[in-house]
Amino acid sequence: MTGPAIGVAFANPDYLSALRRAGADVHELLPDPEAITATLDRLDGLLLTGGADVRPALYGAASSHPTVDVDDQRDAYELPLTRAALERGLPILAICRGLQVLNVAAGGTLIQDLPSERPSRVVHNLEVPKDAIAHRVTIAPGSTLATLLADQLGQGHDVDVNSRHHQAIDTLAPAFVVTATAPDGIIEAIEHATLPFCVGVQWHPENFWRTGEFSSLFRGLIDAATRR
Ligand code: MN
Repeated sequence: MTGPAIGVAFANPDYLSALRRAGADVHELLPDPEAITATLDRLDGLLLTGGADVRPALYGAASSHPTVDVDDQRDAYELPLTRAALERGLPILAICRGLQVLNVAAGGTLIQDLPSERPSRVVHNLEVPKDAIAHRVTIAPGSTLATLLADQLGQGHDVDVNSRHHQAIDTLAPAFVVTATAPDGIIEAIEHATLPFCVGVQWHPENFWRTGEFSSLFRGLIDAATRR
């Protein structure tokens, strides 16, 4: 029995392992903006991965902070791909840059450089090891994310996460809700208010695929894709 077809572009081995361990039939996507409709026709769900910064002009920013490092090929593919997937209500799990792409695709904006624009003592850019805990996040009760992380949360609302980002959500996209925040108030997770499964996290759950701390996020995507 094969699992649901989950599309992923720009994936490193941790993303692929996390998806396969959760039961996905992984489809690695070539970044062809012309093929988006045909691509989505054969998918049951979508994973948006981490990577470079979104070009600030794409969310209406007049200038670009010197630390901003963009990838125009990814922007040109992932923004229309995400908008088309949202229109279809395709289940989406979005990670790090993926969460930022999701927010911009749906009409939100980003903080371009946390250290200079939101200085805080919370470490958001702990590079190695990739599964090192950087800070805790507080999960919104009643959210899809809280349901997915129920085993870890117990009676509490906090969970420890890794963190490798210098950007974050500034203005939240319409129709989305914040479902996790760091101790300094930085948005660490969002989800769509009405779509069946559209979850974004600012941390990197894929780096825990061996030990399973966040495998429930990938299983949530696979379950939603299967129900669809
Ligand atoms: Mn963080």
